[in-house]
Amino acid sequence: MFDNSNELSPWDRDHFFHPATYAGAHARGEMPTRVMARGDGVYITDTSGRTSLDAFAGLFCVNVGYGRQKIAEAIAKQAKELAYYHAYIGNGTEAPIRLSKMIIDRAPRGMSRVYFGLSGSDANETNIKLTWYYNNVLGRPEKKKIISRWRGYHGSSVMTGSLTGLELYHNAFDLPRAPILHTEAPYYFRRADRTVGEEQFAQECADKLEDMILAEGPDTVAAFIGEPILGAGGIVPPPTGYWKKVQSVLEKYDILLIADEVITGFGRLGTMFGSEHYGIRPDLITISKGLTSAYAPLSGVIVSDKIWQVLVQGSDQLGMIGHGWTCSAHPICAAAGIANLELIDEMGLIANARDTGAYLRAALTEVLAGRRNVGEVRGDGLMAAVEFVEDKDDRAFFDPTKKVGQQVAAALLERGVIGRALPQGDILGLAPPLCLTRGEADIIIENTASAVDSVFVN
Ligand SMILES: *Cc1c(COP(=O)(O)O)cnc(C)c1O
Repeated sequence: MFDNSNELSPWDRDHFFHPATYAGAHARGEMPTRVMARGDGVYITDTSGRTSLDAFAGLFCVNVGYGRQKIAEAIAKQAKELAYYHAYIGNGTEAPIRLSKMIIDRAPRGMSRVYFGLSGSDANETNIKLTWYYNNVLGRPEKKKIISRWRGYHGSSVMTGSLTGLELYHNAFDLPRAPILHTEAPYYFRRADRTVGEEQFAQECADKLEDMILAEGPDTVAAFIGEPILGAGGIVPPPTGYWKKVQSVLEKYDILLIADEVITGFGRLGTMFGSEHYGIRPDLITISKGLTSAYAPLSGVIVSDKIWQVLVQGSDQLGMIGHGWTCSAHPICAAAGIANLELIDEMGLIANARDTGAYLRAALTEVLAGRRNVGEVRGDGLMAAVEFVEDKDDRAFFDPTKKVGQQVAAALLERGVIGRALPQGDILGLAPPLCLTRGEADIIIENTASAVDSVFVN
């Protein structure tokens, strides 16, 4: 099925160190690999000419779809006029100025400034540093711990890999590092005792968070970070009332809230931000994937007024804020961001994510109903997950070494649709570009059902 005879494949195996890859299997040529060549809308075509419907939008990121000439032209124009100038010491270029204005216009209330980085990971690094700086300026040098959740995904650098609550990202890397702590994942389906209702479970999660804060000492806890809806950790929407309860605990102990909206920012949940969708009032917001639809690497931290005031105070006392990268606020990436946000508006993609997302999840739930091995179909906006179990009546999970989630994703791929087996559990994730039509949703639904039936022969 895969073309490993391509002239590139020995170079790929011998010289290219791929991110997040089984290094040995890839180098030995034991893994199916795929070299992509071009894309159009939700479709992507590889060098051997095979086309697939990408129902995962790359890695939850190509929100406007592939092949958008408007973004390509904006990038080319910027590259020709001025490919780079730095943004240190108040310098800069036009594009990031315009883009920050566009972001603040779209952001939840109370947001003030945008700091630009290049990846979700580095933006969360910035969040950690800003949190520490904030408490140092306020004269609370002990208030430094950051609480994340098991199954959260916040990046894979040293500190953000520590925030991430997935074993695969910690193993043999000496992670997580202090001062990062993890609390319970708000994952109702995996809660053993289901006599407890969903809202009561949300309360339990908030109580566990509070217990941890009290055990550590509230004066040592600086921030809590979470994705509005768990992404790579399983595409798990929060249980009813979760964010309200968590927020009241954080407010009680003066702990900052960082909303990691790398996936949910700019429309994926059918609203501009996940924070408005779930009623979250964050102090810092992480953005990246949806900001440029990955046409160019760009991320950002949206800083609230409350934090900004303290940063101003700090720099007046201590001097320049010593934080930045050579390519922070890169004009080519910012030009891509501007064109991307304009395209989201022009194409009505946020409303489409809401409507087509609701359609996709409802139809998927219906078509998979009654299958013994489908434990749950869940999601929100244009994000959906199907979790597989040995038997749905007693929610017995599969032995992970059977890799049934990966088998379903492989069977789906054989049928021309790209989904993703999420890294922890037997979970098929779907997060198509926001331009998905109903007809394209039907293709995903039919092929998912057929893939499921090919793996679980009942
Ligand atoms: C992808 C992701 C990140 C990390 O972004 P990178 O650009 O891969 O560093 C951080 N947070 C969330 C929620 C993500 O999904």
